[in-house]
Amino acid sequence: MGLEDRDALAVLRDAVIRPDAEELIGRFYTCWFAIDPPVRDLFPPDMTDQRKVFRQVLDWVLGEFIAQRAEEPVAFLAQLGRDHRRYGVTQEHYETMAHALYATLNSDLEEQWTDEVDDAARQAINFIAGVMSGAAQAEPGRGWWEGTVLEHHRVSRDLAVVRLQLDSPLDYHPGQYVQVEVPQCPRRWRYLSPSIPAQPDGRIEFHVRAVSGGMVSNAVVAETRPGDVWRLSSPHGAMQVNRDDGDILMVAGSTGLAPLRAILMDLSRYGDNPRVHLFFGARYPCELYDLRTLWEIAANNPWLSVTPVAEYSTDPPWAADYPDPQPPRGLHVRQTGLLPDVVTRYGGWGDRQILISGSPGMITATTAALVAKGAPPERIQHDPTTG
Ligand SMILES: Cc1cc2nc3c(=O)[nH]c(=O)nc-3n(C[C@H](O)[C@H](O)[C@H](O)COP(=O)(O)OP(=O)(O)OC[C@H]3O[C@@H](n4cnc5c(N)ncnc54)[C@H](O)[C@@H]3O)c2cc1C
Repeated sequence: MGLEDRDALAVLRDAVIRPDAEELIGRFYTCWFAIDPPVRDLFPPDMTDQRKVFRQVLDWVLGEFIAQRAEEPVAFLAQLGRDHRRYGVTQEHYETMAHALYATLNSDLEEQWTDEVDDAARQAINFIAGVMSGAAQAEPGRGWWEGTVLEHHRVSRDLAVVRLQLDSPLDYHPGQYVQVEVPQCPRRWRYLSPSIPAQPDGRIEFHVRAVSGGMVSNAVVAETRPGDVWRLSSPHGAMQVNRDDGDILMVAGSTGLAPLRAILMDLSRYGDNPRVHLFFGARYPCELYDLRTLWEIAANNPWLSVTPVAEYSTDPPWAADYPDPQPPRGLHVRQTGLLPDVVTRYGGWGDRQILISGSPGMITATTAALVAKGAPPERIQHDPTTG
């Protein structure tokens, strides 16, 4: 029976949804690292998030098997396998992973481990490892790119613009994001959105904001130096504009500007575009770090209007230590307030394609404010709010 035996599969799934399931997953990793020690080096020192994510994946995949659905798990696992190439995962790692998972479940479920459960476990684990490794092997493209930092500009206290030269061009759509590993924080991959469209010469640029207590973002802002080598994954994400689907509202909070800026630069290749209104917000006026670029795009492209927004109307004393972002006249007058309030002061924007990019809190609040004003939720796009 194997994958058709819903009762046997339910025994396996119960093991990964019970309250102490993360301990079970912890034992799986311990077992895997014991039988294949080099695998430990592929993971970050703190495995808490990893354990959570792997438990969720097992829960979802086993749930799909129980519902006798295979299409979505195949698509999901294949993508996961392709993504894992960037970690340097090999065929042998999948074999030892399958072995460790089987051994851990077997010893955990000893009383319930019937022949049927054994059959279901073997087939489910082989399915997961087989689809992931098969998709990784079948993928002709590269698993990761290396980029050498050319420039690092501290544009404000908590903000850096980083320009890199990739070892070969990375093909992505404007608005997509990649995962990035920096040398200061090995194996701690974080999502970043390129702030320029894909370049045939392999140049790429990121805007990074140091979040409070954030390990990687603070290292990038404070410690990145020219010559550092970053590792980048293949691109993800579907945020985009349809040039034939009416006017556009963009709302960017801080470095959430990056993907929208890439889209604006891409649009500026065309003479004729839908009208785009961009609200670019930050806490202080001095943190509106990229107004000059926006001013340059708007000066040459009459379809773009930009409204700067700052939560506070004056700058803090430390602003004097950083470049003044104020561009020549030409943009709308800076507004004071929080982005959701300022944007909805102008109306509901119900007739627009709406793209929102920024911190999870800003995305949630702006979406809620716009929907409350009548914007159709299906016209609102944003990236996932968790990494
Ligand atoms: C699709 C996507 C694209 C992204 N693009 C960019 C980008 O172009 N530029 C950029 O600077 N960041 C971007 N991020 C955020 C980035 O991936 C990291 O989450 C962020 O830099 C924090 O990482 P960290 O290691 O410093 O913090 P962690 O050590 O992972 O977390 C420390 C603390 O910071 C909080 N935190 C995490 N992310 C944020 C956030 N965005 N805002 C406020 N608090 C947060 C966490 O909840 C936690 O409490 C993007 C995220 C996603 C999901």
